[in-house]
Amino acid sequence: MIDKQKLINRFISYVTVDTESDPESNTTPSTAKQWDLANALVEELKEIGMQDVTIDENAYIMATLPSNIDKEVPTIGFISHFDTTPDFTGKDVNPQIIENYSGQDIVLNEKENIILSPNDFEDLLLYKGQTLITTDGTTLLGADDKAGIAEIISAMEYLIKNPEIPHGKIRVGFTPDEEIGRGAHKFDVSKFGADWAYTMDGSQIGELEYENFNAAGAVVTVKGKIVHPGYAKGKMVNSMYIATDYINSLPRLETPEHTEDRQGFFHLYSIKGEVDSTKLQYIIRDHDREQFEARKEMMLKLASELNSQFEKEIITVEIKDQYFNMREKIEPVMHIVDIAEEAMKEAGITPLIKPIRGGTDGSQLSFMGLPCPNIFAGGHNFHGRYEYIPVESMQKAIEVIVKISKLVATK
Ligand SMILES: [Zn+2]
Repeated sequence: MIDKQKLINRFISYVTVDTESDPESNTTPSTAKQWDLANALVEELKEIGMQDVTIDENAYIMATLPSNIDKEVPTIGFISHFDTTPDFTGKDVNPQIIENYSGQDIVLNEKENIILSPNDFEDLLLYKGQTLITTDGTTLLGADDKAGIAEIISAMEYLIKNPEIPHGKIRVGFTPDEEIGRGAHKFDVSKFGADWAYTMDGSQIGELEYENFNAAGAVVTVKGKIVHPGYAKGKMVNSMYIATDYINSLPRLETPEHTEDRQGFFHLYSIKGEVDSTKLQYIIRDHDREQFEARKEMMLKLASELNSQFEKEIITVEIKDQYFNMREKIEPVMHIVDIAEEAMKEAGITPLIKPIRGGTDGSQLSFMGLPCPNIFAGGHNFHGRYEYIPVESMQKAIEVIVKISKLVATK
């Protein structure tokens, strides 16, 4: 149904443009180079026949596929992001195409002996006989989330070329800076004007997600007192020891390396310390809102407990909420998940519904008034040199977009 070579060419034309985002930057997009791909996407959307193609001063792209039926049906949207993570370089991506994958090791880079092996990444074996696109071992691939863009554009092109398939009004949105947590920040939900949308930003074929973490960041600052070590008795307060007490008083097994599924955690990701002052940086994650609040409470209580042992306050904790579990916004409109599930089943895909141990643009958008579950884009091993995507999974994602569009129009 979807021409494979054309899809491969389209995807490669995106991943070979460097669009790495930068958390240190205050501009939107965070890096000027994201404009290179954004401007090309605008042209392509116009070329395939999309209407109202717009790009704003922050590089947010929107476009419309008008309804081709008389009946009033909801307007739906499909969303993806064109930046890639700053965790690993996305410059000079040199994609490798492995046809009819044998199930054996794939040599990504002979010179540097970089191997993509099913011994390390068992999922590879799901795709025996399929066409894989990999990196050359020196960069990431950027399937996250240029696969989503390729799939959305291909699906829109397919609907335009096959006008006998009924669909309502469809909106398309491409954003910068998702990987640095800002993809939704300047997304104009009212301008987008959809009743609901789907981010095409999941991983393995079949993934369908409407539940993510509640998330907060915490900065713990311990103030010590520095005195000449030779004359410090009874005077010196070493902030690093107190910080260590603080760290060790939090539940040691509730950390990322000891949790899975719906288990939450405290994650200490940075310590900067001297005698005089120590700063700890944490993230707090939990799917359950009550437990999430309890975790924040625990961090505050622990500080006041330690403070009570000193004459004045020496530990301060600053907690900032980052995002919330979209489930509470999706549950009242559960039919939008049901439609996606039905579309997958029609396409012969087994839906994999599981809670995301992270956040998506969709969770922020859901709280901004645009309910937005997440659907697979098909890639694996995001954010690193072992990233790969089966072309067949991308073709299936396109089919899912087309089927969702049709289901909304015919229900
Ligand atoms: Zn992504």
